[in-house]
Amino acid sequence: MFDRAAETMPRAQLAALQLERLKKTLDRAYRAVPHYRARFDEAGVKPDDLTSLADIARFPLTQKTDLRDNYPFGMFAVPREELLRIHASSGTTGKPTVVGYTKHDLETWSELMARSMASAGALPDDIVHNAYGYGLFTGGLGAHYGAERLGCTVVPVSGGGTERQVSLLKDFGANVLCSTPSYALNIAEVAEQMGADLRQAPLRIGLFGAEPWSDAMRRDLEARLGIRAMDVYGLSEIMGPGVACECTAQNGLHGWEDHFLFETIDPETLQPLPRGAVGELVITTLTKEALPMIRYRTRDITRLSNEPCACGRSHIRIMRVTGRDDDMLIIRGVNVYPSQVESVLVGFPGIAPHYQLVLTRDKALDTMTVEVEMTPDASLDDAGRVRKAAEVTHHIKSLIGVTCKVVVKSPGEVPRSQGKAVRVKDQRAVAG
Ligand SMILES: [Zn+2]
Repeated sequence: MFDRAAETMPRAQLAALQLERLKKTLDRAYRAVPHYRARFDEAGVKPDDLTSLADIARFPLTQKTDLRDNYPFGMFAVPREELLRIHASSGTTGKPTVVGYTKHDLETWSELMARSMASAGALPDDIVHNAYGYGLFTGGLGAHYGAERLGCTVVPVSGGGTERQVSLLKDFGANVLCSTPSYALNIAEVAEQMGADLRQAPLRIGLFGAEPWSDAMRRDLEARLGIRAMDVYGLSEIMGPGVACECTAQNGLHGWEDHFLFETIDPETLQPLPRGAVGELVITTLTKEALPMIRYRTRDITRLSNEPCACGRSHIRIMRVTGRDDDMLIIRGVNVYPSQVESVLVGFPGIAPHYQLVLTRDKALDTMTVEVEMTPDASLDDAGRVRKAAEVTHHIKSLIGVTCKVVVKSPGEVPRSQGKAVRVKDQRAVAG
């Protein structure tokens, strides 16, 4: 373990530490951020009202729009001069979400990312091939500094140029690959086309995050790359990657409770849920200086577990996030997450694990077309494609309950991920 004392801290001690840090965080937010002061006053709560961890439920929730409304620096609790770095989300609509870090925040981030990588099985002497995008996105620099903090040799390759990535992975003998799962799949495929067998390479671990992915995709990546594929979780509003990570038990992600408080709420009623119930993950930062986040709504749907873990870590486990509230599609009254469709497609005989969901509107009805690819060796004729499409349609209907159209394309026709995969093409507005 990277930090055994912290990672195995007994529950009572961990809870006491959380309470102490939570009080300080609420106090700092109330004093230094006008947004929080106004929201707390509206809700009729003061930082002093918190006497137990459960009291957090009395405090107002924060969401992405609060960051946008206070663009760019309105949510910061420190003077701008104390910020050492800024990151921002691209923001598909409206203004980007801006986050910032003090020196201490950056140190904590490196520390937690190092802790995460070690819990996933990375070792100080490993070579880490970092294919997360560098820049305003937190993935690249987050993994970079974490790996350096752990004592690894970092190859800061960033995204894109997949053939070169395969050569570097092989030539340098990387042990750990950091990327989005969809980009890892792209790397695996290009490696196969180049005749480079990465399963024979020293590559041992994939540290994958920044997008939801299914267990079926995990098994596929593990088989194709000869690795253990580990899930790492984070979001820039809270810190970036390293908020939580799987341990080698691969049974949920340990959320680092000495720095964050995790809750789940009912996304409709916004009421807190008992431990173990499925709901929206809400996170409060406990040590962030520049950007304290009070009860941030992540939109990720999951459940939390306090059951003891085989690895000996005492920190809570966040069960793998397979869907985001934002990603949920409602097709003819049925709720569907893209990752559910992925589970059906990955490993389907004759079908490659590349897919895109195209949404169109036919009169008042929403229609989902699943574009998939046949594997290179399937070589189906037109009639064969129609039969294969019917088979896939039937499986999606029986496993997820949604009726969709399936189109089987030729190998290479579905766009490949260069970072974050675009799983859904929404053409409903275009079609009117
Ligand atoms: Zn564990």
